[in-house]
Amino acid sequence: MMRSAFLAVAGHRYTKRLITETAAGRAVADRFIAGDGLDDAVSTARQLNEQGMSVSLDHLGEHVTHIDEATTATKSYLACLEAIADEGLDANISVKLTQLGMGMDDDVAAGNLDQLASAAVAAGTSVTVDMEESTYTTATIDLYERVQAVHGNLGIAVQTYLTRTTADLDRLMALGGHIRLCKGAYAEPADVAYQTSDDVNRSFDRLAATLMSADGVTPAIATHDDARIAAVLDHASDRTAPWEFQMLYGVRRDRQRALVAQGHAMRIYVPYGDAWYPYFSRRLAERPANLTFFARALAGG
Ligand SMILES: Cc1cc2nc3c(=O)[nH]c(=O)nc-3n(C[C@H](O)[C@H](O)[C@H](O)COP(=O)(O)OP(=O)(O)OC[C@H]3O[C@@H](n4cnc5c(N)ncnc54)[C@H](O)[C@@H]3O)c2cc1C
Repeated sequence: MMRSAFLAVAGHRYTKRLITETAAGRAVADRFIAGDGLDDAVSTARQLNEQGMSVSLDHLGEHVTHIDEATTATKSYLACLEAIADEGLDANISVKLTQLGMGMDDDVAAGNLDQLASAAVAAGTSVTVDMEESTYTTATIDLYERVQAVHGNLGIAVQTYLTRTTADLDRLMALGGHIRLCKGAYAEPADVAYQTSDDVNRSFDRLAATLMSADGVTPAIATHDDARIAAVLDHASDRTAPWEFQMLYGVRRDRQRALVAQGHAMRIYVPYGDAWYPYFSRRLAERPANLTFFARALAGG
């Protein structure tokens, strides 16, 4: 698979330097990232709100290697929630549990998520837990369940490339909240994940139908794929409870605007911060044309 091959290359130090230390790399990354600071995220969120879209702010970072970094990340998200309330933004936050300490000390990570959930209640908003590599799926769901049982204002992402997701959804739907359905962005082996796009798409359409007919949860359909969007819209007229589309900042802006013009709720995932390389490499990997943009920018053309 092209994605797996690129993600393997992206892990090399040389590739990282080529992308992060050249103007070309930064220029292409700017398309997908709001900027380095919270101010950049706030002004991007404001612009998107003005266009009728809500936002999920992601302060980039994952797999921290020291527990102090998890504390710092938690503080940065608390500042973000304060800004959301102060600026009256229609926004929530998206967090990766490995950024909050999961994998090093799961109790610390649960405490950090708990703090964010409380602060989000105070700010009148919610927290979405991103889903990471399959080695963390069980820990992510366990930790999510602990904090969601207390606060009730969380949501979580599930990946349709994982064969386990049908069973996970049963467990997660019982916890309420919002559930973001996405295909999955990591390179995963055949014993846990579908390997062909047909299988991943079939799984997406089936799980989207389950979510769209579920009571007590808010489906968040996260895709830029026209065929998946059309399949979900087939169920939309039967659904009276809230649900939304979600797309990534900088990806298919025309489609984002068109769906809003048709009256659909749209939330844009807006990443910011200087730790943008892993996020950006996943965006490059999922679309070969992005690599061409990068190669052209590198050549100065
Ligand atoms: C809001 C949101 C949150 C997400 N959260 C997670 C998460 O928590 N965990 C996780 O594993 N994954 C997450 N993802 C990523 C997701 O799993 C997919 O990797 C990604 O969305 C690409 O899949 P697609 O459904 O858009 O379909 P694809 O078939 O990959 O893309 C369909 C079309 O969309 C356009 N497109 C897609 N990606 C790009 C791109 N990078 N650059 C330019 N054009 C593109 C192209 O036109 C492409 O033909 C999230 C995605 C979204 C939209």
